[in-house]
Amino acid sequence: MAIARVALDVPVPMTFDYRDGGLGLVSGALVVVPFGRRRQVGVVLELAQQPLVERARLRDVERVLPVEPLPAEALALIQFCSDYYHHPIGQVALSALPTALRRSAFAGVRGEVGYVLTPAAAGLEQRTPARASVMQALLAAMRGGAVLGAAEARRISPRAPGVLREWQEQGWVEERQGEVSSPPATMQPGPPLTDEQRAAVERIGAGFGSFAPVLLDGITGSGKTEVYFHLIAHALARTEQVLLMVPEINLTPQLEARFRSRFPGVRLAAMHSGLAEAGRCQRWLEARSGAAQVVIGTRLSVFTPMPRLGLVIVDEEHDASYKQQDGVRYSARDLAVFLAQQRRIPVVLGSATPSIESYHNARSGRFVHLHLRSRPAASRPDIRVVDVRDVPPQHGLSGAVVDALDARLRRGEQSLVFLNRRGYAPSLTCSACGWSAECSRCSARLVWHLREAALRCHYCGHEEAMPAACPACGNQDLRGLGQGTQRLEQTLAARFPGARVLRIDRDTTRRKHAWRAMREQIVGDGADILVGTQMLAKGHDFPKLTLVAIVNPDNALYSADFRAAERLFQQLMQVAGRAGRADRAGEVLLQTRFPAHPVYEALQRQDYSGFADALLAERKSAGFPPFVYQAVLRAESVSPSSVTTFLEAAARVGAGHADGVTLYDPVPAAVERVAGHFRAQLLVQAPGRAALQRFLRAWLPLLAEGKPARVRWAIDVDPLDL
Ligand code: ADP
Ligand code: ZN
Ligand code: ZN
Repeated sequence: MAIARVALDVPVPMTFDYRDGGLGLVSGALVVVPFGRRRQVGVVLELAQQPLVERARLRDVERVLPVEPLPAEALALIQFCSDYYHHPIGQVALSALPTALRRSAFAGVRGEVGYVLTPAAAGLEQRTPARASVMQALLAAMRGGAVLGAAEARRISPRAPGVLREWQEQGWVEERQGEVSSPPATMQPGPPLTDEQRAAVERIGAGFGSFAPVLLDGITGSGKTEVYFHLIAHALARTEQVLLMVPEINLTPQLEARFRSRFPGVRLAAMHSGLAEAGRCQRWLEARSGAAQVVIGTRLSVFTPMPRLGLVIVDEEHDASYKQQDGVRYSARDLAVFLAQQRRIPVVLGSATPSIESYHNARSGRFVHLHLRSRPAASRPDIRVVDVRDVPPQHGLSGAVVDALDARLRRGEQSLVFLNRRGYAPSLTCSACGWSAECSRCSARLVWHLREAALRCHYCGHEEAMPAACPACGNQDLRGLGQGTQRLEQTLAARFPGARVLRIDRDTTRRKHAWRAMREQIVGDGADILVGTQMLAKGHDFPKLTLVAIVNPDNALYSADFRAAERLFQQLMQVAGRAGRADRAGEVLLQTRFPAHPVYEALQRQDYSGFADALLAERKSAGFPPFVYQAVLRAESVSPSSVTTFLEAAARVGAGHADGVTLYDPVPAAVERVAGHFRAQLLVQAPGRAALQRFLRAWLPLLAEGKPARVRWAIDVDPLDL
């Protein structure tokens, strides 16, 4: 009898053997097995003849979940991810599945009703006016005899069920049980492509059917999305599926709507973290069956099995949200490249400010490097530095910024004031004794939130009431130092009494749909001055916005992280890109005490390439990534000495295997204590990927031995934060 080698969600790097129980298992099957005294869902990775444990101890697989098994390529991606990031295979496999499929009680999804057009509907599409967009979209979705599922119909519009019912009564539509199917794909015409766009589409299009990694290096507003759309049309015409990955914050209903209006009827599965369990599962199954023609998703969507995958696009590829920061610490961008290589298909990494890693890959010829240097629909913004060394800003605003805001108000245009710090003031101190409010559980200051009259820790979420007097000396004169978005909002409201000021940060957008309402307010001309954090920096198109004021970017210049300059440039370039997107020229003002800093100089020239080249040269001579390869062993515990003991022992054990690999001394994490846990880390560096991997394979299995009880550790390969 065959033995099933099953991956389970257990924190040990191994699989578990079960008898197949006469179920006729295949690899990739999702099965329910007894584990200890519980039941668990597992993934059959392979079938074997000989068990790795005594036969007498083997138990039977209980049942197979009623879903198609994972295809071999999906298993290979899981295996690669587990090997490369050194994370237990079972945890990788199970975290790649939608939650609904991880439940042992999963009973399958009910076959949904489908709809098809009847012969009586002939000519209906021509008779339906173009402005009846819901009807047009539904008709397109049933073109060529395609069966439209009820769930997809509801995604097209909440009004769809009503329209379909009416058509059923007219005899134009009938219900059809069983599989849904896809219509022939057509793209609605967009603007004529610029020469650069057309060249990019042609160049990437020539690589279809083979592994062809491309860096699409195009300034904000250069029409990268338009290029993606043409490539998607190309893939759909080849009846291939497309995976379009976007950062979490960019996966908005607007992107979905923009896609649907260009590709009416095309089956789209949008996958983001806000989806309910059942919705995510259904979309995953649609992708798995091939019914979903396009998947738009965040980080986790890289694991979606797609049998006819023909193209992968990673938009804003530099975005840090592609790297998972706990559990399996994978980079979805890097996995996307692996995926494309495995499936022999093109992968397009798009950005206005590519990560230095991808930029290096493009420079060195590993990726094809394509440029979009012009903005077809707007001119480039004018970026100017405001030197605030001699005349310090009042309440954070320099005279130049105040004048520019004033001019916009008079012209009825919108402005954006960017400050990447939420709350009222980043710290609260006593004017008499120097006390300052700190989190009792973290090595961090508490942030004063004025409206809530609270002090909040931005690391652990701890919150306490704003004290009436200094807890140390009783003095009632407590002062907020520095400025957050709440304070800036207050300052602006006082300075411009007639203006409608709208604050957009994580605090004001926490409620569901809050951000959507705010967006409508902005686009619908219901706000004059936007105050916001990096939430506002990304991918949004605000047609009336003509001024961006960046009021306090200098803090980032002091960071010890070698990636700080890269991040700052990326972030500022992204915010700057919000100005003047439509037919109005944009202006960007940057208040700084370091007007000659290379980051700001490059920013004024809007010369990311020059800046990236300089960074690369610097990193090369300093021996930083991408010229070396890193991994960080992170450890934490309530006991600081246990963390030290663990990391020192790890360093000693590692020294015996080093062989060209450098182990640095353990150091405390940037924020040493979070929620009562002390955190420290050990950096490992190697001249090549292979050497690093060899070392980790030898070293990590030795760490469990003699580990102090309360220490938790994790390995982070290719870390983004040190
Ligand atoms: P990106 O993704 O590079 O920031 P988008 O694709 O969102 O840029 O395009 C920015 C704006 O330019 C959009 O309003 C888009 O409709 C418009 N646009 C894109 N390509 C063209 C073109 N070839 N001609 C005219 N307008 C275009
Ligand atoms: Zn005091
Ligand atoms: Zn805290």
